[in-house]
Amino acid sequence: MITAARGPKPDAVAASAVDAAREALLALVAAGEVGEHLGAVAEGERVVSHHFACAKKGYRGWVWAVTVARASRAKQVTIDEVVLLPGDDAIVAPAWVPYKDRVAPGDLSPGDLLPVEADDPRLAPGQSAGDEVVDRDVVREATFEVGLGRSRVLSLEGRDQAAQRWYDGDQGPESALAQAAPDTCGTCGFLVRLAGPLSTLFGVCANGNANDDGRAVSLDHGCGAHSEVQLAKRHQPEPMPEPIVDHFSDDHVESF
Ligand code: SF4
Repeated sequence: MITAARGPKPDAVAASAVDAAREALLALVAAGEVGEHLGAVAEGERVVSHHFACAKKGYRGWVWAVTVARASRAKQVTIDEVVLLPGDDAIVAPAWVPYKDRVAPGDLSPGDLLPVEADDPRLAPGQSAGDEVVDRDVVREATFEVGLGRSRVLSLEGRDQAAQRWYDGDQGPESALAQAAPDTCGTCGFLVRLAGPLSTLFGVCANGNANDDGRAVSLDHGCGAHSEVQLAKRHQPEPMPEPIVDHFSDDHVESF
C-alpha cells in the first residue's frame, strides 16, 4: 500500500525497497519485534518511509518507520533513519501541560507558594485598572484600588475570566443545584451584594446551611436553602399528638 498523503508522488524505486528497509530494521531490533509491512509514505522527492507493525511487548499500535532515499539517477536506495512512531491506536502519554496551567482550586496546601508572573494578563497596575478605556467607573475603581495600596489589581481580562469561570461553574445557573432550586439567589435574603462591576452578576452566599456558604454565586444561581422556601403541606412534619398526662405516679402507689 502506498500512501501519498503529503509530499510529491512516491518514488517507484524507493517505494518498492521494502526488503532493504526490513533488512535495515532487523539490523537494529530483534526479528520478533517486527511485524508485517503496513505501507509506505512519500516524505519528499525520492524519499519514502516504510512502515512495519511493531510486535514489541507494551507497544501496541506503534509502528517502525524506515526512511529510504534514492539519489538522482541512482538504482539503489540508502537508509536514512529507523524510528519507532506512535500509530493511531498507540497508547501515548497525554500532552504535556505546564505546571502553572495544571494547578486547580484545592491543590494548594498550607505553606505552598504560587507566584504570579510579572506579565500575568489577569492583573494590571493599580493606576490603570487594566484598560485604556476612559470610563468613569473604571477610573473610580482604580482610584479606590490605589487607595488600598495594592500595586496590581484585577485587569478587565482577569475579571472577565473570573466571571466566566464562576458563571460556568457549580455556583452558576446551570449547576444541578440551581436547576432544581425553587428560586434564585437574586431574590434570596442570604445573598450579600458585591461592589463593583461583578455585582451585576454575582453576590456572596451567607447562608451557613447552604452548600455555597461563603462563595460567589451568580444572581441566577439558586438552591433549596433559599430564604423564602416554604415546604408544601405534604412535606411538613406531622403535628404532635395531644400530650397524655399520666396520673399513676409513685405517690399514688404508696397511698394504696
Ligand atoms: S442560600 Fe441558596 S439561594 Fe440563597 S444565596 Fe445561598 S445559594 Fe443562593
